[in-house]
Amino acid sequence: MQLRPACSLAVILALAAPIAARGQAPAGSQRPALLPAWVGDHPRFGWSGAWLFPVGDPYEIGSPGPKGSPAYRINRCIGEPEDGGGRHTGADLSCGYGGDVVRAAGNGLVVRAEAHGWNGGYGRHIVIAHRLVDGGLVYSVYAHLADQSLRVKKGQLVAAGQPIGRVGRSGRATSEHLHFEVRLAEGRDEPWQDAEVLDPITFVSEQDRADTTLDRATWWHMLARAARQSRDEFPDETEGVRQMLIGEGVIEATDTTSAAQCLSWGDLAQDMRRLKKVGLMVARPPFSPAEHRALCEREFAVPRPTQALDPLAGRKGAPLVGQACIVLADLAGSWESAKKAKPGPTEPAHQPPPATRGVQAGREVDASPH
Ligand SMILES: [Zn+2]
Repeated sequence: MQLRPACSLAVILALAAPIAARGQAPAGSQRPALLPAWVGDHPRFGWSGAWLFPVGDPYEIGSPGPKGSPAYRINRCIGEPEDGGGRHTGADLSCGYGGDVVRAAGNGLVVRAEAHGWNGGYGRHIVIAHRLVDGGLVYSVYAHLADQSLRVKKGQLVAAGQPIGRVGRSGRATSEHLHFEVRLAEGRDEPWQDAEVLDPITFVSEQDRADTTLDRATWWHMLARAARQSRDEFPDETEGVRQMLIGEGVIEATDTTSAAQCLSWGDLAQDMRRLKKVGLMVARPPFSPAEHRALCEREFAVPRPTQALDPLAGRKGAPLVGQACIVLADLAGSWESAKKAKPGPTEPAHQPPPATRGVQAGREVDASPH
């Protein structure tokens, strides 16, 4: 099967990460508003952002996926007893045969990519670390992958929706399926094998998704997160967010629209004009500027939508969350220039990815998935 998720979906999801997430600055940071935001130890290890299911339909297990991708069913979920004793630690997702593409469920950092071996029953498997919006850390695990199907390496940043492998039956598997886990770490030092097992279906279902229509409350939260990454200073309530944005000149004080009201393309273009004026910059997505420009070409027929706001304002329909993220990401600072910039006193120095500093990558597997 030659199945790939819709390219724009993958990129949209990835771009949603640094912006749509409820941002949090590194501990101790007192970052003033409207400055370029750095995220964590690795400047590009951004928020996990919008999530999706790794196989089949991105949002509905049981429905056929994009471009004829087959429907998947849950053969077994967490907590159910295993044949060999113990409890099952993930969801077994199957469409009845192997070879289908497995996608990264969220933006993250590959901390393990085992292309060979039994690996405690996981067989060929990939583990991705994800930064949660509240500062926490989760791991997603993709096991029983097909031979020679792994497409990512340890230390690599991946985007939500990015193909990482194919469904197989390596390790302890009696049929071809994806064993998918989500584990919540207690801290940055907890290795994935020890982290608390969550119900991965429930977890993904409860995360943000990029294909929803944008209402004003969501848009305001996105702008606020883009404008101010420090959670300490970040109001939880929508009205507080609105007032913050008014105070920073991002939205007009006369804006009395309801938070639940949908945003039009005209509204979005107008706000983007103001954002440019106040000089807002957002965190870089896990993509190069060239890739972002290519995405904008596909989505908006221009490489820099913020430089063509009139056509944007004239678009029909309402913007989706993911589309708004793409436009907002046009305000991201140049990654290359950011790399060369001398870190300020509150910006973390450039360090190796956290895989070497706490997000554990090298432990032996001791669980036994089916
Ligand atoms: Zn399993």
